[in-house]
Amino acid sequence: MTRRGVAVLGSTGSIGTTALRVLGRHADAFYVAALTAHSNAALLQEQAREFGPSFVGIVQNGAEDHREWRHGPSCLVEAATHQDASIVLNAVVGAAGLDATLAALSAGKRVALANKETLVMAGALVADACQRGGGEIVPVDSEHSAILQCITGRRGADVRRLVLTASGGPFRGWSRERLERATVADALRHPTWRMGRKITIDSATLANKALEVIEAHFLFGLPYDRIEVVVHPQSVVHSFVEFVDGSVLAQLGVPSMELPVLYALTHPGRIADTGVPPFDPVELSPLTFERVRHDDFPALRMGVQAGRMGGAAPAVFNAANEQAVSLFLEGRIQFGEIPRAIESALAAEGTAPSHSRDALLEADAAARRHVRELFAC
Ligand code: NDP
Ligand code: MG
Repeated sequence: MTRRGVAVLGSTGSIGTTALRVLGRHADAFYVAALTAHSNAALLQEQAREFGPSFVGIVQNGAEDHREWRHGPSCLVEAATHQDASIVLNAVVGAAGLDATLAALSAGKRVALANKETLVMAGALVADACQRGGGEIVPVDSEHSAILQCITGRRGADVRRLVLTASGGPFRGWSRERLERATVADALRHPTWRMGRKITIDSATLANKALEVIEAHFLFGLPYDRIEVVVHPQSVVHSFVEFVDGSVLAQLGVPSMELPVLYALTHPGRIADTGVPPFDPVELSPLTFERVRHDDFPALRMGVQAGRMGGAAPAVFNAANEQAVSLFLEGRIQFGEIPRAIESALAAEGTAPSHSRDALLEADAAARRHVRELFAC
């Protein structure tokens, strides 16, 4: 078997380190061609020593350190288009991953996409880059990996509806009054998944599920009224696909990102793996499902509404959310102010021009500015 080179962007994060664990177990099938990080030079150096990639890049670092590395934001695009990589695992957090996704797809590569924010902000541009360059996107997000695994080999016309599962986050049972004043520590205590800080907060507000509905819309081409969300606190059923005859398929597994990461590398094939925990339905039972409390978690509805509006609205939703989450994590705004910031930014900037990458980046910047001004930050 020819080994495929993988560029891991955001290698020092939660998904990045998971990916390197998976790649380390499958050195017969894959090798690490490139690594990039934002600030964690110590971990990046350790990873570079272990995996020996031909390219290492860091966004923020003194250029006098590690002269053999590439420095600055452009290292993401360099890694994403490196000749040794045929797969680009984009595990950068936030809008910063956009150019790398576009460049990899334009260069005809497979993008194993964890960085959902960039598909949300620029779904049409990403689809266009994919088509022109001959690249492909395979989702890493567990819900979308589940859907892909259920529909692979089937006719798109046979799919009636997608139902994404949501754990409900740490505040599933909390009253609206209590939610309003939830602390950063409360919000970072996710019941089923260990993830980076930004997505953990997104899971607490359910903004993450809005990003995922938009992501599913672009990945699978279904209209928004055929994509639904159900709360499933155990995070064992990773999503459902309903077909036109009423039959429903689901993909299940213990909550671990190792399987969706591996599947994004091997799709549509599979390879044997010993790292994914064994599945025991009795051990994992009971499995329960609940309706979403939309009135208490308004970010989900707002995000889906932004998706329906199209144009720059999803980019504005995403940027306002990123900015509000970072202010919340800095202790400058309350938890309940995150959805209010998104609503206000969408009202002010949601219909901004969206015809190009630059227009979308302008909408993104305007939304962030709007949120900072709203809270005088
Ligand atoms: P983390 O915060 O753990 O990691 C983010 C990675 O991106 C780090 O390597 C970080 O570098 C790097 N990074 C941060 N900012 C920038 C920037 N401006 N430019 C370049 N690189 C940057 O996040 P996660 O791994 O949790 O999430 C990554 C992506 O995957 C997100 O889009 C998230 O929504 C998605 N995802 C994550 C899941 C999970 O289980 N964690 C599940 C499904 C999707 P450094 O550490 O050096 O600063
Ligand atoms: Mg997910």
